[in-house]
Amino acid sequence: MAIQILPARLANQIAAGEVVERPASVVKELVENSIDAGATRIDVDIEKGGSKLIRIRDNGSGIAKEELELALSRHATSKISCLDDLEAIISLGFRGEALASISSVSRLTLTSRTITQSEAWSAYAEGRDMAVQVKPAAHPVGTTVEVVDLFFNTPARRKFLRTDKTEFGHIDELLKRIALSRFDVAITLRHNGTIVRQYRAASNDAQREKRLAAICGSQFVKSAVEVSLEHQGLTLQGWICTPEGARAQNDIQHCFVNQRMMKDKLINHAIRQGYEASLRPDQFAAYVLYIDIDPHQVDVNVHPAKHEVRFHQARLVHDFIYQAVADALVQVAAEQAPVLEF
Ligand code: ADP
Ligand code: MG
Repeated sequence: MAIQILPARLANQIAAGEVVERPASVVKELVENSIDAGATRIDVDIEKGGSKLIRIRDNGSGIAKEELELALSRHATSKISCLDDLEAIISLGFRGEALASISSVSRLTLTSRTITQSEAWSAYAEGRDMAVQVKPAAHPVGTTVEVVDLFFNTPARRKFLRTDKTEFGHIDELLKRIALSRFDVAITLRHNGTIVRQYRAASNDAQREKRLAAICGSQFVKSAVEVSLEHQGLTLQGWICTPEGARAQNDIQHCFVNQRMMKDKLINHAIRQGYEASLRPDQFAAYVLYIDIDPHQVDVNVHPAKHEVRFHQARLVHDFIYQAVADALVQVAAEQAPVLEF
């Protein structure tokens, strides 16, 4: 076959394979867009595990009418504009791929209003086979993205969807992690019209603890100690369980770097080492940890789904986390040690 440039739709569908694995990946991309737009309230509506409908509504900054069509194009982003920006990412998104990818494998409606517009506008795209249509709509300041019939035109993908319950479970887990990453954002999750989760915005310790308990269970909150440490511009905050609070599964291991959720082997390893001999091989630490680091010191452009990072000074970060965990556990042990009386 001769070499040819792929049609835009096919190129988008191939790119969609990287970021849109299942309904939960769509929810992740859309909710991250809402957070990047400064939303303080995000409503997530799901029908049939997301295969029928995924609707995300936010009260963020909105998208101007003239930019609606552009927002759906590939490599279109308002978040970076040069290589320098890429080397110090502060937003969750930056690849300009999500809306183009999602709209290439679903029937997508993007409705939005900015503060300077008196009217809202709506853009509709269906598998990107036709030109995007922009029409007037009713919507307060903010954005709603409605994704209907995900993978309707990519049967191979659709076949890999599991039961509604399983797919919804993935969405629920994802939103738990997002709710842990931003206590200041109110999030509501509905499935088939019923409210399943309601995370209220938390601005004080008591409210934060309530949200933490709602997500990780009150057992975790009871057994957790708070850590807070700063070293050479690196900060670590959050909660780790005492060795008594260790779990039989790795189900409460949440780590965020600059408010982005991570699955990072280096961090995991450092934490495990911090526990040293106090965990049996069949036990897992439970933790919710927040690392803040100069964005120049970390590369987030490693994986399309962005859940891996590369630290420029990996050793320093590793040892800092290890030390913080070890110190916190030593302190707990000292507090719990019986006082000898003579
Ligand atoms: P990226 O997030 O990488 O920039 P996306 O395809 O996810 O790429 O989004 C494209 C652009 O559309 C964003 O850069 C942003 O300007 C705009 N956008 C998307 N979702 C929203 C939203 N909920 N609120 C405001 N703007 C949005
Ligand atoms: Mg995005």
